[in-house]
Amino acid sequence: MNAAVAVGRDENRLREQIVRLGRSLFQRGLTAGSSGNISVRLDDGWLLTPTNACLGELDPGELAKLDWDGRLLSGAPASKEAFLHRAMYEERAGAGAIVHLHSTHSAAVSCMGGLDCADCLPPLTAYFVMKIGRLPLIPYYRPGDPALGDAIRGLASKHTAVLLANHGPVVSGTTLEAAGYAMEELEETAKLFLLLRDLPTRPLNPAEIEELTTVYKLPRY
Ligand SMILES: [Zn+2]
Repeated sequence: MNAAVAVGRDENRLREQIVRLGRSLFQRGLTAGSSGNISVRLDDGWLLTPTNACLGELDPGELAKLDWDGRLLSGAPASKEAFLHRAMYEERAGAGAIVHLHSTHSAAVSCMGGLDCADCLPPLTAYFVMKIGRLPLIPYYRPGDPALGDAIRGLASKHTAVLLANHGPVVSGTTLEAAGYAMEELEETAKLFLLLRDLPTRPLNPAEIEELTTVYKLPRY
């Protein structure tokens, strides 16, 4: 088997994986209408879900294939939120995939006032600390404003995920599976945070976070 055939098969596998994840997220109510987008890094560019596509009904052959200058190489026109993904990939060499959703609980938290912009969800569970860590809030920008890409670039090297104010989360992972699981962990933690708002709550303390950081070799912020 030559190298070109091997790459082609890997790309086809990733296309199918995007379609499966999109369907799963849509069927479980984690994305509605044509909102949200999914991307993966390839050896010769990257794949992104098309503009105005419902994540529940993606076609593997229609996914947008782009180069790193944003040019469309094949497929349907890319999501207008392509620049969010590019900004994250440019700062995170190890990111193999990115999931961006307007999922209800994370989006609800992104609309709250009085959040700590450097750390907008408390460390309620060990899994949130392990998969997301410290989550920064990026101020509101109108859809498509290129300044939003710059704001992401400023934080993405140090954070696997960011929350866009009045919008939703952008989550990266080494693989599509890792990015999808991290996205779901963030959404579940946002749900817990909202459920616990009026109850006395004990997040993990600094010693417990330090223990996780050491045992699981997590990045330090
Ligand atoms: Zn969005």
